[in-house]
Formats: sequence, C-alpha cells, structure tokens
Amino acid sequence: MSDAKAASDALVFFGASGDLAFKKVFPALQAMARRGRLNVPVVGVARSNWKLEQLRARARASIEQHGTIDEAAFAKLSAALRYVDGDYHDDATYAALRKELGDAKRPLHYLAIPPSVFGVVVEGLAKSGCSNDARVVLEKPFGRDLASARALNATLHGVFDESAIFRIDHYLGKGSVENLAIFRFANTFLEPVWNRNYVDNVQITMAESFGVQGRGAFYEEAGALRDVVQNHMLQVVSLLAMEPPTASYHDSMRDEQVKVLRALRPLRPEDVVRGQFSGYRSVAGVSPSSSVETFAALQLQLDSWRWDGVPFYIRAGKCLPVTSTEVLVTLKRPPVAQLARSEANYFRFRLSPDMTIAVGARVKRPGEAMVSEATELEIVQQSRNDELEPYERLLADAMAGEAMLFQREDGVEAAWAVVDPVLGDATPVHEYEPGTWGPDQAQQLTAAIGGWHAPEGR
Ligand code: NDP
Repeated sequence: MSDAKAASDALVFFGASGDLAFKKVFPALQAMARRGRLNVPVVGVARSNWKLEQLRARARASIEQHGTIDEAAFAKLSAALRYVDGDYHDDATYAALRKELGDAKRPLHYLAIPPSVFGVVVEGLAKSGCSNDARVVLEKPFGRDLASARALNATLHGVFDESAIFRIDHYLGKGSVENLAIFRFANTFLEPVWNRNYVDNVQITMAESFGVQGRGAFYEEAGALRDVVQNHMLQVVSLLAMEPPTASYHDSMRDEQVKVLRALRPLRPEDVVRGQFSGYRSVAGVSPSSSVETFAALQLQLDSWRWDGVPFYIRAGKCLPVTSTEVLVTLKRPPVAQLARSEANYFRFRLSPDMTIAVGARVKRPGEAMVSEATELEIVQQSRNDELEPYERLLADAMAGEAMLFQREDGVEAAWAVVDPVLGDATPVHEYEPGTWGPDQAQQLTAAIGGWHAPEGR
C-alpha cells in the first residue's frame, strides 16, 4: 500500500497517442516542467510502433497546437520523456514498462485511455509488479451507469487501495469551480441567506455552441447525461449545496460533497427533458437512428434540512446559442412587491469561459416614481489566463498524493444513483434546431420560476 503522502517518483501515461494526451496532457506536462514540478521520468505508453523521438515530436506538435512552446521547459520535458510501445493485452508491454521505470518505486499511472481498457491495464500493472506502491489516475467517464461504476471500483480495489485511486473530473480543477466553495465559506454575509428560507431556486447552465467536434463515435456511447451531468454538473451542485467542511480532518471537503450527492433524489422521467440537435444523426460515427441526447434539462430535489423544497435546475447541451457555463442562485422576492417587481436578487457565478461572480440587486430608478430597477454588482471578473489549467493542477496534485479535487468511490456511485433511472431511452428525445436553447419541452420545466436564465457568451 502506498504512503498516502509520499510524492510519486515517475509519471506513466497510457494513451500517449490519443486525443486527450494531444489536447491536454502534453501542455500540462510542459507547464509542470516550467514550474519545476516535473522532476521525474515521464513514460508514454502507446501501441503506435513509435520510438522515443516520435513521442517527443508528438509532444511538441501538441504544445504548438494547444499551448505555446517554452523552449527551456520543453527541453526539461523532452529529457524526462521515455516511451514504451505495446499492446495493453500483452504481458511484454508491462515488463518493458517495469524496465523503463528503472529505480522508480512509487510510480503514478495515468490511464488516458478509453474506459473499456481500464480493467485490462490495471490487471497488467498488477501482474507485472508495476502497481506496487503506485497511484492510478483514471479519466472520466467512470463507468456508464451505477452497476458498471461499482464493477470498475471492485476491479480497481482488487489492486489499489482507495487512497491510491484518483478519479479525474477536470471540472474540480477549475479555479472558477473551486471559487464556489471559497466564496461561500469565506464570506460571512452569505451564510444566513444560503438556505431554503432565502433561496428560491438554483440554475446551472452549461451551454456549448459547437457540436460533437468529430467525436461522434465517442458521443454515441455517452450523451449529455453521462458526459457532463453525472460528473461536472453534479459536482457543481455538491459545491453549491454542501455544508461547511471542517479543517480538523483531511477528507472533510469530500465527505460534505458526497453527503449532498447522497441527499439528491434519484431522477424520475418527469424531471428530465432530453433533446438532440437536428443534424446529429448525420455526424460520422453516429447511428442514423440514434436516440442519444445532445441536450438535457432536469430538475433536482435535495432531501436536506438546508435545501428542502428548493429546486435545482440543470441544463447542458451542444449547438446552443452560446458557449458559457453559469450558475444563478435566485433569492426569494421581498414582500413589498411594488418596489421589487420582476427580477429578484441573485448571485451569478460564471464558471467558463471566464470567471465572474456577481450579485443582482435592485435600486431606485432615477425619476419621480418610487420604483426599482435591476442592477448588477460585479464582485470579480477574471480571464481564464489567470488560472492554472485544470490538468496541470490535477496531475501535480495526484503526484503529490493530494486527493481533494478527485472523485471518491462513494461520490461517483452516489452521482450515478441520481441519473441511473433516466439513462438511455427511459425518456423520449426531442429534436431541436442548432442555435436554439434546446427543445420547447425544456421550457416547461422552469415555467414555475419564469423560465431559464440565459447566460451571455460567444
Ligand atoms: P482515444 O480514442 O484518442 O484513445 C486514447 C488512447 O487509447 C490512444 O493511445 C489509443 O491508441 C488507445 N486505445 C484506444 N483503444 C484501445 C484499445 N482497445 N487497446 C489499446 N489501446 C487503445 O481517446 P481519448 O484520448 O479521447 O480519451 C482517453 C480518455 O480520456 C477516455 O477515458 C475519455 O473518456 C477521456 N476524456 C477525453 C477527453 C477528450 O477531450 N479527448 C476529455 C475528457 C475525458 P491508438 O491511438 O493506437 O488508437
């Protein structure tokens, strides 16, 4: 069993030839090298018949396309790189990996590979001894439903202790998402109103103006509920709704988040509207009769003292009018209705593409009439450049054995339990036109609160 806090002394990444490695992993590795946080061998594993020089060339091409080459940092990364070629079903691949790891005693294995091969790689690591005192980082999605998540957890626990398992939800590595917890618990003025007595409803919209970007085959296996709701959106709910963590023990933050996930009622068909943008079925890799959702809108209820009766609405989709993720926490209206007609007070958290925290307030409209008008106080606005990229943050944390920003077994399973009843064809899928806010049926979900908040964006 690995020492919970000893730093990993090698970083192995399976899937070195893959899309995720190209888009995220190489840029994150260069960023870690730049900060002096990558002083260990970095072993790429793939089945591409490459030599080390091709891995280095791939790293450079990746960073040129998805970042900026910093020659000094890239030279450090390049010198740290090793390459192991082989099939994941072949014992020889792991024997070669063990050899390449040399003196390393506590490697971290990052599985940037399709979930279908997680099990075979974990077993290969165990048989070859590469899993001894090691950590393992897994990409999302973690399972396809509650049963498969449980089965995957059982496979992992056959080899790794839970403290050595790091399940990535890169949303948790975003500064804007962490700020939900910081803003809530670092500001005394918020606590008295952050409950069912003052909050009317909570909305989270994750809108993408683009489609499936050439990943049709991948998306066919996922859909919006599995791709972003079960993980990113429910993590955001957990941060918005959790009780304050205590500083007195280490895993308190994750404990509080998991309590929220467990208090969410499993979704019923009437809580969910699924949509599919017109044209999705013609995308390469997509079935011409696909019923996979590219849009989901849903209403959640939390069985907790703090949130009883407060609806949490989520909508996430592709080919929507903008690319933007926002949370809107709307307070109840004051009783003097004529002074505060229309909009109530709210807190607005923009999570991407930039970060904003703003408060909606009402002030007197200039003129003779005693009427109010809406205004917004922007508390903070930061461009994304101000933040570490999530993958840099998360890989560095995993190397250090710091698990706070990773999903735990019980949290993953609790989140699947929420969406499990409405996965697949449990509800109909409605077509919507690209560039709109999804099917009309989604509007009915929020009719009681006056409709959805539409974030601005590109
Ligand atoms: P890819 O399909 O690009 O595959 C990743 C790697 O796995 C490649 O090196 C590929 O090798 C290898 N591979 C695929 N199938 C097999 C197999 N049957 N046996 C052995 N090796 C195999 O996937 P992504 O990089 O897109 O995704 C990797 C993981 O990251 C997945 O879990 C995905 O869900 C997750 N993820 C991806 C994101 C993205 O933007 N791409 C975003 C968030 C999470 P080869 O090149 O030879 O096929």
